[in-house]
Order: sequence, then structure tokens, then C-alpha cells
Amino acid sequence: MEINDITDGTLRNYVNGEWTVIDGDDGKDVVNPATDETLAHVPFTEPDAVDEAVDVGDAAYEEWRNRAVEDRIQPVFRLKQLLEEHQDAMARVLVQEHGKNLNEARGELRRGIENVEVACGIPRLMQDGFLENAAPNIDETAVRRPLGTFAAITPFNFPGMIPLWFLPYAVATGNSFILKPSEQDPLTAQYLFHLIDEAGFPDGVLNLVHGGPDTVNALLENQSLAGASFVGSTPVARHVYETAAKTGMRVQAQGGAKNYVVVSDSADLRHAAEKTVSSSFACGGERCLANDVAVVVGDAYEPFVEEVLDVVDGQVVGYGLEPETDIGALITPDHAERVADLIEAGVEDGNELLRDGRNATVDGFEDGTFLGPTVFGEVDTDSQIGQEEIFGPVLGIARADDFDDAIETLNATDFGNAASLFTARGGEAREFRNRAEVGNIGVNVGTAAPMAFFHFGGRKDSFFGDLHAQAEDVVRFYTDETVYIERWPDQ
Ligand code: NAD
Repeated sequence: MEINDITDGTLRNYVNGEWTVIDGDDGKDVVNPATDETLAHVPFTEPDAVDEAVDVGDAAYEEWRNRAVEDRIQPVFRLKQLLEEHQDAMARVLVQEHGKNLNEARGELRRGIENVEVACGIPRLMQDGFLENAAPNIDETAVRRPLGTFAAITPFNFPGMIPLWFLPYAVATGNSFILKPSEQDPLTAQYLFHLIDEAGFPDGVLNLVHGGPDTVNALLENQSLAGASFVGSTPVARHVYETAAKTGMRVQAQGGAKNYVVVSDSADLRHAAEKTVSSSFACGGERCLANDVAVVVGDAYEPFVEEVLDVVDGQVVGYGLEPETDIGALITPDHAERVADLIEAGVEDGNELLRDGRNATVDGFEDGTFLGPTVFGEVDTDSQIGQEEIFGPVLGIARADDFDDAIETLNATDFGNAASLFTARGGEAREFRNRAEVGNIGVNVGTAAPMAFFHFGGRKDSFFGDLHAQAEDVVRFYTDETVYIERWPDQ
């Protein structure tokens, strides 16, 4: 399908198995950031309609939770098959609304599909414990039970993958679910729900509600919602965590990041440079796992900088649908301007500007929000570009006196999403794993992204809650453990 197959120009909600018109004056145009072409308009759902969607989810839940688990996973299997069939077409829609390149869009959908596959294993994942003779003549059984209707509120940067960190697990465990995708690029979610419509879920089990902050707040203040998953920036993650907690619902909130890479003087520097650059600049740097600052130990600094610049100079900036493009457009002109302002702040703070991406232009796409790769050297890690999430194609390189100094530098940020180490020494790898205060740790890996059968971690200001997205953690989030204690005395 193409964009005009999934919308007539104004997006609709999908509630109770139907595409419903969204009432209300508030809304936003969805714009292709590479061409400045308006692709569609997304109206924002008013609070009353949000409450209706929760009621619909609750009504569908009663029947859905009691279906045999084997029946429940059949539409999940069908969804996996449909996603495979539509992966390429969906990736093209994603590129047009987001700006990243086609391979990146395909890759994120692959990561999303992996989560659907893991959720198909729910008959095993949902099993809990049983103990005969837990007490004299008493047997005890722990069971995982669904809780009602859950919502997920997702960010713009992975519109295809992040909804699937939650959605397949929520429904496979027997809950109903509402997705509130980013209003910046909601067409991929619209596409996903066309597939969901075809997959055979009962009406009301899976719902799509478009909107902005007021829509989110209406979800969080709904007394009936069983829980909310959030992925986005740290200030909003904190707001979501606090607001949901007041209502008493379950909540998991993933926030922003500032990811450090440590390059040991023992590392293979070409490998380290290639992986660092690919992590920093893929998806235009709009990734919560992007490498933001590389801290290089001792004499490795100069040769590492040389390798990095060599790799960076081969990067092609362009339209995401053009096959040669490495770095696509940023999501909006406002965001590109914010990134450019942070580059200027980096210069004013005295960091050494080695490559400046601010004047990037792409022939034929003069209205696009393009920034080329920017590299700073001799970075003061206490300066703004050393501490603040930039979310653009900007890499900083800093010096560390020794390995210990490098670990202390990375632990000094407020964030704790990911960190990587490049080394040839097992002892350093072991120490790094033990001391880095982050949820995802890479060793000789640039982007520490866990596969779907592991949870997606995060610490400090990068995560509020305890149970994370993906795999067993999210299965626990979507289920409550009940214990049956049974005695059957002889009559
Ligand atoms: P964002 O916080 O602006 O928006 C995320 C969602 O929150 C959207 O659906 C939006 O509608 C909603 N929202 C925005 N402002 C709100 C408000 N005031 N009240 C209630 N809801 C609100 O984030 P974004 O710009 O879409 O995404 C980028 C951010 O997401 C970056 O900080 C990035 O690091 C983070 N992120 C984190 C992870 C992770 O796993 N930790 C993954 C991807 C992205």
C-alpha cells in the first residue's frame, strides 16, 4: 500500500474495529521532511473520545482474556505474516514521513517483527510456578493474568518498531490495547492498523488513537486504564510517570539519552571508528542508542580521530528513498534548527569543530531539513554538547587520561541508556560491564540494541519504572501474578 491507500488525507482513529472520524479543531500536518510536501493531516483526539476508546477496550477485554491462549496467538501469527509481506511498502511510507533512509526503515521494521515473533511464544512465556506440598497437604500455583486495557505512547524516531515493543505482548497476554503514536509521523501506525484490521483480532482489542499532549493526558487520567507504556524525551517521561502514578495505574516510561563510547588504547581503531560513526549518524542521529561522545584513552586519541574523519567523509547526505543515502533528513525544520544551535553552542564553549554539517544541501531537495555529519574534537565533557541530548548527526570526541577516567566520565551524565567499549582486553571489558551505569552495554559493538527476546534497559534519567519494554519484562508488566493455595481434605 501507498500513503493514499491508507488515508484519504485526514487520519482516522481505529476503535472497535472501525476507522472513525476524529472530532476536534486541534491537529497537525504530517510533512515529508526531505521535500516539505504535506502528506496528510492528523487531528488530535479529544478527551471524551479517548475515554470512549478505553471503554471499548474494557468491553472487548472480558471475552478476549478468557479465550484459549492458542486462539489468542493466531491473529498475532497472522500479523507477523502480514508485516513480512508489507515490510517494504511500509518502509517506504516510513521514509517519507520520517526522513531516515530505506535500509534503516526496513531494519527497524525487522526489529519490530522480531517482537511479534517473541509474543507468539506467550503460551510458554506466561507460564508461572507450581509447587506440590508447599505446606502439609497444600499445593500452590502462581498464575499470570491480564489486567484490562493498556496504552502505549510512542515517539517519532522509530514509528515502526517502538509500538511493537508493546502491542503484540499486550494482546497475546489477554489485554486490550490502545496505541497513541507520535503526531509527527503517524502514518506508519496507520499502516500497521490496516494490517491489524486484516489479521483477525476481535473488535475493540486493538485500538489506535491519534493526538498530542492532551490526548496523552486524557489516557493517563483515565481511572479505568490498567497501565501505560511511554517512550520519548526525559521531561515528558517524568511527567507521564508522575501523572500515571497519581491515577494508580502501572507505568513504565523510557526517556532520553546521552550515550558514551570508551575507546581503549588496545582497541582495533578502524573497527571502533566504523562502528562509532555508524551508530552516531544512522537515522540522522535521531536514536536513543546513538553514540554521542567517544572518550579515547591516552595515545589512541589522534589515530582514532583520523580514522573517524576518514569514515565520516564517506557519508552521503540525501533523500531517504535514494539508494546511496546514508544520512537522511531530520524530522522537522525546528528540530534541525535546535541541532544547529547546539552545534553553535559547542563552538562557543571552545570545543574543536572538525567537521561542520550545518551547510549541507542536497540537489533537488533544497527545502529539506538536512544536516551533514558534524564532528567535534577535544570535547569538554562538562560542556553543553557533552551533557545534553542533541538527537542529530553530531559526534564529540574527548580525551581520557586512562581507562578509569573514561568510565568516570561516562557515569557523570544524568542519563543511563547505553554505553559501549572498544577494547582488546578481556579485563577491561569485564570491568566496564561491572561499572558502567547504563541499561544496555556494548563491547566492541557500537549500538547496544538488545534483540526482542531480551528486555530493553535504561537507568537514571533514561528510565522511570522497573519493568522494561520487550520480552519477559513486558510480559510481567502486562500481567499480574496471582497465587492459588489449595487444600482438598478427604470428606
Ligand atoms: P516526545 O517526548 O516529544 O514525544 C513522545 C510522545 O509523547 C509523543 O507521542 C507525544 O505526543 C507525547 N508528548 C509530547 N509532549 C507531551 C506532553 N507535554 N504531555 C504528554 N504527552 C506528550 O519525544 P520525541 O521527540 O517524539 O522522541 C524523541 C525522544 O525519545 C528522545 O529524547 C529519545 O532519546 C527518546 N527515545 C527514547 C527511547 C528509549 O528507549 N529510552 C527510544 C526512542 C526514543
